[in-house]
Amino acid sequence: MNEYDSSRMAAMLSASGLTPVEDIEEADLVILNTCAVREKAEEKIFHLLGRLRPLKEARPERLIAVGGCVAAERGEQIRSRARFVDIIFGPQTYHRLPEMIRRVENGEGPQTDVSFPPNEKFAFLPPRKSGGPSAFVTIMEGCSHFCSYCIVPYTRGGEISRSSEEILQEIRQLRDCGTREINLLGQNVNCYRGVNPDGSICTFAELLHRVAAVEGIERIRFTTSNPIEFTQDIIDAIGEISKIANAVHLPAQSGSDRILALMNRSYTANEYRDMVRRLRLVRPGISISSDFIVGFPGETDSDFEDTMRLIEDIRFDGCFSFVYSKRPGTPAADLEDPVPPEVKSQRLARLQQMVNALALQHSREMADTVQRVLVEGPSKDGQFLCGRTSNNRIVNFTGPAELAGSMADVRITGILPHSLRGELLTIS
Ligand code: SAH
Ligand code: SF4
Repeated sequence: MNEYDSSRMAAMLSASGLTPVEDIEEADLVILNTCAVREKAEEKIFHLLGRLRPLKEARPERLIAVGGCVAAERGEQIRSRARFVDIIFGPQTYHRLPEMIRRVENGEGPQTDVSFPPNEKFAFLPPRKSGGPSAFVTIMEGCSHFCSYCIVPYTRGGEISRSSEEILQEIRQLRDCGTREINLLGQNVNCYRGVNPDGSICTFAELLHRVAAVEGIERIRFTTSNPIEFTQDIIDAIGEISKIANAVHLPAQSGSDRILALMNRSYTANEYRDMVRRLRLVRPGISISSDFIVGFPGETDSDFEDTMRLIEDIRFDGCFSFVYSKRPGTPAADLEDPVPPEVKSQRLARLQQMVNALALQHSREMADTVQRVLVEGPSKDGQFLCGRTSNNRIVNFTGPAELAGSMADVRITGILPHSLRGELLTIS
């Protein structure tokens, strides 16, 4: 989400006459776009601010801005610990940056705006002029679920959906500049409820059908769908729409019903299993990935074993996993947490080992198959072309550079832990 916000800020500031620089020393404006989801990300910000201080002192007219969720949550602390910061803005007010910059330059002093004006920013952002082969499009913002460990509802505000037409217009703009894959973005995309031009309400399943009808868009992904309200109409849409990628990210967080209840996740491990069963019924072989939090306050060995069992049962194809991080102001922050940190990190290591082994097994099953990939550009080392399969794997293969941005069929010839090797068959 921050990646999307940063790219939109960059596009907006470019439209107002700024150009990006490679070297921070040359910058007239430095923006930190921050994440508050775990404590470590927050600590990094204060560390980085310490490094920015001499830059500001060397050239006081250089502007320093801090945006995103840490700014929303701890604006005052940032002000008191780093007085040199000129602008503090939240995840819903970055469209006001040009105005805030103007005010500071006019001598009106430091600016702060961490309010939540619903959906206002989209009307202020410039049309999409470039997105690359695959682009994010925000369909909804904020979250109203209040999982007991999570800071997002406090920093990004309540759930709010963009209108279906605004989203489709953005997608058509991206298509017109060559984007082939759209990643629909939101904290809970499945809770999307946008207004249609005729005033009716568009559900997420309906939105998927509308996006699929946009000619020239070849592949659709969404991040994050959530087991909370992952309803049958969405599962049916995944079965019906072949443009939807063969991969769904469905964060389980835990496999223990006791912990899931304490987390306020409103599903049980068996309900989760049933959801995946129904998904696989409409899309056999669909890749399922997840997020897990290990060491939630009071998680016992037996709770953790329940999580490991869920992972084995589902045979997840990758996951993001984290040790629980206490977020101030969230209900879980008040729970007793007797589990020693070493136990938590051992559990995390075991979980990651298991998920990595499962992902490798899934990769091995792809050996010798032909995969349709979206060619993203040169590989990291510049030796190959790099594409992404429908089930979200990187494939490196030899081919002409002009292929970037097209779809191609590639035979899988090698399996590596984090990528695949392939051989180009056809281009389309
Ligand atoms: N809305 C999505 C996920 C949003 S946050 C969902 O509910 O599925 C992304 C991930 O960060 C979460 O899935 C969770 O695994 C992790 N996360 C959130 N708060 C956390 C915390 N306090 N400690 C550790 N991990 C956390
Ligand atoms: Fe956080 Fe839960 Fe909302 Fe996801 S659904 S953003 S974990 S509160």
